[in-house]
Amino acid sequence: MTLPDTTTQPALDTLRRVFGYDAFRGNQQEIIEHVVDGGDALVLMPTGGGKSLCYQIPALVRPGTGIVVSPLIALMQDQVDALMALGVRAGFLNSTQDFGRRHEVEEAFLAGELDLLYLAPERLKVESTLRLLDRGKIALFAIDEAHCVAQWGHDFRPDYLELSRLHERWPSVPRIALTATATAATRKEIAHRLNLDDALQFVSSFDRPNIQYRIVAKNRPEQQLLELLTTEHKGDAGIVYCLSRASTERTAQFLSDNGIEALPYHAGLDARTRARNQARFLREDGLVVVATIAFGMGIDKPDVRFVAHLDLPKSVEGYYQETGRAGRDGQPSTAWLAYGLQDVVQQRKMIATSEGDDAHRRRLGTHLDAMLALCETVECRRVQLLNYFGQDSTPCGNCDTCLSPPEAWDGTIAAQKVLSAVYRLDRERRQKFGVGHIVDILLGRQTAKIQQFGHESLTVFGVGTELAEPVWRGVIRQLLAQGLLTVEGDHGTLVLTEASADVLARKREVRLRQEPKRAAKPARTRAP
Ligand code: ADP
Ligand code: ZN
Repeated sequence: MTLPDTTTQPALDTLRRVFGYDAFRGNQQEIIEHVVDGGDALVLMPTGGGKSLCYQIPALVRPGTGIVVSPLIALMQDQVDALMALGVRAGFLNSTQDFGRRHEVEEAFLAGELDLLYLAPERLKVESTLRLLDRGKIALFAIDEAHCVAQWGHDFRPDYLELSRLHERWPSVPRIALTATATAATRKEIAHRLNLDDALQFVSSFDRPNIQYRIVAKNRPEQQLLELLTTEHKGDAGIVYCLSRASTERTAQFLSDNGIEALPYHAGLDARTRARNQARFLREDGLVVVATIAFGMGIDKPDVRFVAHLDLPKSVEGYYQETGRAGRDGQPSTAWLAYGLQDVVQQRKMIATSEGDDAHRRRLGTHLDAMLALCETVECRRVQLLNYFGQDSTPCGNCDTCLSPPEAWDGTIAAQKVLSAVYRLDRERRQKFGVGHIVDILLGRQTAKIQQFGHESLTVFGVGTELAEPVWRGVIRQLLAQGLLTVEGDHGTLVLTEASADVLARKREVRLRQEPKRAAKPARTRAP
């Protein structure tokens, strides 16, 4: 018989007694033991992996209060309520409280009556908060959503930069930084900026094997969504993400008109409607929420059966985080994205006209490129996704590209035709010629615009009749995705890039992806 380990036993006791769970999951135990012993940790664990216990249990086991820094102000009340229901003494301080309530929480902290205290990061810029913390006893600092400190990440928050000061002021208090998304480079930046270079890093697998990833060509997005929901997800709860507030409203209405109960959610709704829609989604079965990305940070609903994107996410990190809200219960779930030419045009345009310096625009461009590479890949989606997070794997057999592998074809000549047309039009720069006009030229169509500009006399006029319009649009989309075309200005005019020259000079081949004839629609297998 071995004697219980002095660290494990109180941690395990707390897990069972307070949280009512039998055993630790994944590497929770290692992490918790390390922090209980006073060590610093950087924890990467996918959404739903169980990050909260990694700081909550050490906060309960160590003397003093665990200080939790979180940007999710809207969720603090819920988090604290949930902890209080378990008998944990928790409080929060943020800008939503009045002075009286804040004062009560501060007094409780100073009296040693709090196990956990949640703070918004901007609180720590205020000297009075730092002085308050000086006067109490701190068990640990937990920095949640730690990727917010990384400028190269997708969710940078300047307030997070202040957090490096925690270590300077309280060098002996252990710190644990947690995030669900970080590439190797972002991880390094987080460690560096938070003064956690010497912290132990705990990296969990990012694979979510029960999620089936599917990315389809967008043609009639609402119809495509409806078909997905009625054929595979009847009566299931799910989240549909749209880019704009208007399209969330429209799509929710469309689904409701078609017999699927759907609620909109976006930052433009008043707080009460938002709270009500969120509460209904959490409590009722089989509701669909159609939302902008404002929805879902910290949403812990286990039986979300699908996450659908009607617009292209801006980064792989964002895509992974949003799709990660599906299937937290481990049951088969679908991550479905419809993506098309206009998505690429729109996002390139948004980047070109975005505020901020060139470095910022380059960063946005890099994020978009990685997302596009995932969309256009002919390889396993999961392999590509995990590879993005620095994890090697083998083809999964459970994503659309594994189930119906797309063919690649030699698109060099097609690319040359498109690029030549763009090159010819480039001479009439001040005019607005969108994708549709380029396709009309390639197909030799006599439209009013063609006649107005005399484009039937261009050498490229009618050179593309061997391919159908949707194929041409797919070619242009992929050229945009591969950086062989880009867009410029408010009109989103197509222009050549440096790389285009090699294609036009026949120095470079272009491989393109053939759209599968029909979308992968495998039978759903439920775990027994
Ligand atoms: P994350 O913050 O990593 O997204 P959470 O901390 O919210 O994940 O945990 C996700 C869910 O898993 C929660 O419902 C949590 O109570 C549950 N959970 C965490 N650890 C365990 C465990 N060891 N055993 C059972 N359930 C757990
Ligand atoms: Zn696969």
